[in-house]
Amino acid sequence: MTIPDEPPRSLRLRIDRAALTANWRALDRLSGNAIAGAAVKADAYGLGVDVAVPTLRDAGARHFFLAHWSEVPPVLEHVEGSAVCVLFGTRNADEAAFARATGVIPVINSLNQAQLWNESGGGTCHLMVDSGINRLGLALSELADPAVQALDVDILMSHLASAEDDTPQNAQQLGVFQEAVAQVGARRLSLANSAGIMLGHDYHFDMTRPGIALFGGIPHPDLANHIAQVAYPRAAVIQTRDISPGDAVGYNATWVAEHPTRVAIVSIGYADGFLRMMGKGSALQHEEHTLPVLGRVSMDMIAVDVGNSGVKDGDFLDLPGDLGKISRRSGLSQYEILTILGDRFDRE
Ligand SMILES: *Cc1c(COP(=O)(O)O)cnc(C)c1O
Repeated sequence: MTIPDEPPRSLRLRIDRAALTANWRALDRLSGNAIAGAAVKADAYGLGVDVAVPTLRDAGARHFFLAHWSEVPPVLEHVEGSAVCVLFGTRNADEAAFARATGVIPVINSLNQAQLWNESGGGTCHLMVDSGINRLGLALSELADPAVQALDVDILMSHLASAEDDTPQNAQQLGVFQEAVAQVGARRLSLANSAGIMLGHDYHFDMTRPGIALFGGIPHPDLANHIAQVAYPRAAVIQTRDISPGDAVGYNATWVAEHPTRVAIVSIGYADGFLRMMGKGSALQHEEHTLPVLGRVSMDMIAVDVGNSGVKDGDFLDLPGDLGKISRRSGLSQYEILTILGDRFDRE
């Protein structure tokens, strides 16, 4: 059977391309003489690579960072393989062969990976050194190894653990990175993520690697004046109903009406990234009207108080979009709030 075109979805995620462009340009400017890359792993932090990557490319970004090899194919629709870097590196011969065939550049993280890349034929790679986050990357003590010295390293990089905090760890990591620089003959150097850009010139080197701030996150208070909201989620009302005092709404009857209340059932739930802990105390918006969320968040739905807004079946309501506010209210990080946005949204 040929399946006809899908009808318009009841969940929409509007990506403000102008804001995304302006955010990259602001971060590039704040990076001083360094160029800003773009971390677009996890489907561009949940926003969708099909919109984010061409927009960032047109803004001027030339380096795109992914975590998994599975994330590569959709990105290659928009940029050359040599513009793409995979942070997990090549863990086996299959991944090395895929890197070679696509021209995508692996970030080598360990002695194992260095040996494997050399054995598979070598060629340009990037190199991650661990400067104190103790996650991915080679230790300083491993850099003299012949397998590392044999690599053709374009970008030597490291990753900051606490760039958003005012802590001595930042300067410590900078010091370790500088020791690594002296031991590896790399063409270019890169240390800072979004928050790291705000640590100043010493942290910029040749390239910065912002992610969250591109997409509207404010990981450092000094970024607030430079970064605009990018993601605007909306959900349609599926049904409205009138309930009476004493009627309960939703699973486990956690909300009970005190007055006659008009309720709208809205097509977003925790399966779409609107988690239970984001429901409590939050509200949707319809034009100038604020519609408080009632009771528990379900898998596919929430209920809101229509009040005197006149909201009816089929209307689209605006979901909360201020990442800082949602984060403070829910206890989730701004990263989590974006990356859990589900795939039932029409990303427009
Ligand atoms: C995710 C990631 C980034 C981007 O970090 P943000 O805090 O989102 O700016 C940069 N570098 C590496 C290695 C990463 O894993």
